[in-house]
Amino acid sequence: MTHWDCIIIGAGAAGLMCAAEAAKRGVNVLLLDHAKQAGKKILISGGGRCNFTNYNIEPSAYLSQNPHFCKSALSRYTQWDFIGLVSDYGIAYHEKTLGQLFCDDSAKEIVSMLMSECTKAGAKVQLRTAVQEVTYDAESSTYTVLTPNGKLECNKLVIASGGLSMPKLGATGFGYEIAQQFGLDVLPTRAGLVPFTLQPDEKSHFEPLSGVSVNARITTQDGTSFNENILFTHRGLSGPAVLQGSSYWAPGEDVSIDILPNESAIDFLLKAKTEQGDKSIKTVLATVLAKRVAELWLEYEKIEAKPLKQFSENQLEAIAQRLNAWTIKPSGTEGYRTAEVTLGGVNTNELSSKTMEAKKQPGLYFIGEVMDVTGWLGGYNFQWAWSSGWACAQAL
Ligand code: FAD
Repeated sequence: MTHWDCIIIGAGAAGLMCAAEAAKRGVNVLLLDHAKQAGKKILISGGGRCNFTNYNIEPSAYLSQNPHFCKSALSRYTQWDFIGLVSDYGIAYHEKTLGQLFCDDSAKEIVSMLMSECTKAGAKVQLRTAVQEVTYDAESSTYTVLTPNGKLECNKLVIASGGLSMPKLGATGFGYEIAQQFGLDVLPTRAGLVPFTLQPDEKSHFEPLSGVSVNARITTQDGTSFNENILFTHRGLSGPAVLQGSSYWAPGEDVSIDILPNESAIDFLLKAKTEQGDKSIKTVLATVLAKRVAELWLEYEKIEAKPLKQFSENQLEAIAQRLNAWTIKPSGTEGYRTAEVTLGGVNTNELSSKTMEAKKQPGLYFIGEVMDVTGWLGGYNFQWAWSSGWACAQAL
């Protein structure tokens, strides 16, 4: 049986960072993954260009039952540290929007960089290795990891197996099962950063807009709002504003969508009535919304496309109210199949925010998405993987 100082399960973003950093500190590390390739999510992220961090990382961009938990790791390994590493490797990158940093060329560069960090430091990466069982012997403080190739032993076991999103990329509930096996609380999980599905009547009404996007402000019932694009799809709504909003939405809740986010709809309509009263409301709305969006929205709201001068001020106010706060009740989300992240997971109260070690299970650590820390869209989730992986490595 081979003995390691540390075994890390999951060669994704967090596991790769942790393995490289621990090995740099002289720890004898084995990084295991059941996939045949390391960092599969990194490879497909950001449309193949990996949005690897964000200039504006701050704790308020993370959802967690304990909003303070992420502060320590994020402040000890920051976006600037990761940008420094990317720069050391000569990887060209650019800011796309809202501080989001993407590779100019390919996400493969990020995976190669992390693999090369592992190799240089002496961490061993072993792929195609499914873990069948983990046991702990308290007397010798030893973990035994059973794989089809035999038993492996270590004193420190790091779970970096991620969340449930995108099962076709190898996502499993393994991390939650290990947490529960060792008596740690796991908070209910749900899909985050995920498109909404619409009720059947809304879905069929707006289906012709599939592929059209408009700038909008989405506000969820808790008052959180995001002003970015929304995209009509053949199942419902997607686009950055919707994905962001989905993380703050619970089934059964309404979502308010301001489809004229940069102006007061009533001021716009009253001005248009004064200046172009003979024009139909559809023509006027088509100057600020895509024509087809204006058309289908008016039809959906059962607003007759008649000249503006035929609407009373009260009627225009009611229409304006709906333009600035179009309320829909999603039927659900597309679920883990297309979600970028998993909300919930290992309760952070069970872990040290400095080392990521389980408070009641010595030598057992959780890093990355498996725990109840979920970032916004835009590089925040990878930064959490880098920061939590780095913080853990300092303690191994
Ligand atoms: P993962 O990267 O998911 O790694 C977990 C690893 O564990 C995987 O390699 C998996 O094979 C392995 N594993 C799972 N179960 C087992 C098991 N039982 N035995 C052995 N190995 C196991 N975030 C951003 O910040 N920017 C983006 O641009 C971005 N784009 C995304 C695009 C998509 C399509 C998706 C799905 C996610 C995206 N994310 C993005 C989110 C980001 O990918 C994750 O938050 C991040 O990868 C989490 O890192 P992790 O190491 O915790 O988990």
